[in-house]
Amino acid sequence: MAAHFLLKPEAIPLTLEAVTILSDEQSRLLLAQIRWGSADKQVCPSCAVVDSHHNIRTRKQWRCKHCYHTFSVTSGTPFADHKISCRKLLIAIFAFIINHKGLAALALRRIIGGQYRTSFTLLHKMREAIMMDMPTAQLSGVVEIDGGHFSGKKRKGRTLTKPVMLPKDKTQVPAKYSTQQRDKIKSHEFPHHPNRRIVIALRETSSQKSGNFNPHTGKERGMGATRTIVAVCRSENTTDIEALVHKHVAKNSIIRSDELTAYGNLKYQGYGHETVNHSKEFSTDTGVNQNQAESFFSRMRRACIGIYHRITPRYMLDYSAEIAWREDVRRRNTSNQLQMLVRCVFSSGVSPDWSNYCRGNKRKVELLFQG
Ligand SMILES: [Zn+2]
Repeated sequence: MAAHFLLKPEAIPLTLEAVTILSDEQSRLLLAQIRWGSADKQVCPSCAVVDSHHNIRTRKQWRCKHCYHTFSVTSGTPFADHKISCRKLLIAIFAFIINHKGLAALALRRIIGGQYRTSFTLLHKMREAIMMDMPTAQLSGVVEIDGGHFSGKKRKGRTLTKPVMLPKDKTQVPAKYSTQQRDKIKSHEFPHHPNRRIVIALRETSSQKSGNFNPHTGKERGMGATRTIVAVCRSENTTDIEALVHKHVAKNSIIRSDELTAYGNLKYQGYGHETVNHSKEFSTDTGVNQNQAESFFSRMRRACIGIYHRITPRYMLDYSAEIAWREDVRRRNTSNQLQMLVRCVFSSGVSPDWSNYCRGNKRKVELLFQG
């Protein structure tokens, strides 16, 4: 059996040690090289001329040869007003990449220093850029779709736990120790919580083969999912799901989902529809499963529980997009991931919701998908 892709030496061509030994000037030139795709040519943000502009080393800026506009590597990017050095910025971006279940702002502050709000806005700017750069081309082939419930968890409070009578052996077990009882309470209480949202993930599975064989079936394993689109809805209802599928999935694609009735009409609307009954099995005998969608929710759940602790509905799409991005680039090496993230963030323009966040600029509306 071939080694796991993360265990191969080519998975880490760039390490945190290699990034931290770079000087501020070297970091600035590296960021410029990734942003503009050239080691000696820059793009003037004012007149858009590509040239070897005058490098003013003392000011860490370039001056345009044509319109004399002065610009830096972060001009016109979400980091335009940041006062932190390019070295710290590069380390922060790299730290964001290598922590594959998310990076808390407090953890980033321990790495780059400064104030908490600096790390907080810096991370949110990266998340926002990833969210705005989410794939827009329609998914095709085999597309897995599933919904996960996030936020809106009711606090336990001081209510006494009532003993419940189990039907089998009639022994008294407190409700908090009974898994079945706990699930009943959750399903009853959660739909009424105002902060509860459903993250819906659509994942296109790759037709490429990994070279690994499943020992049970003898079939070659696939490379998993390659493109992910996420949306936040109030509930997993028919209107929203059908609108989402029509918008993001090409006709004649095969959609794999669980047996929720909201997906039931898709087979009459130009899509192939395959289901798996999760109360019985994870994958049917014919190989129908939605394990790639579950994989996204697995990582999202770990980020929610272990890193971020609390995700509010207002920024839930940003966090979901971050996790989707992490899932999609999971097989790429660190150098590739760094280049992808720098290009994505630096090409997203000045952040609409996070520039001047500490001076009162905040996102006003929740980014909710409504069909
Ligand atoms: Zn210019």
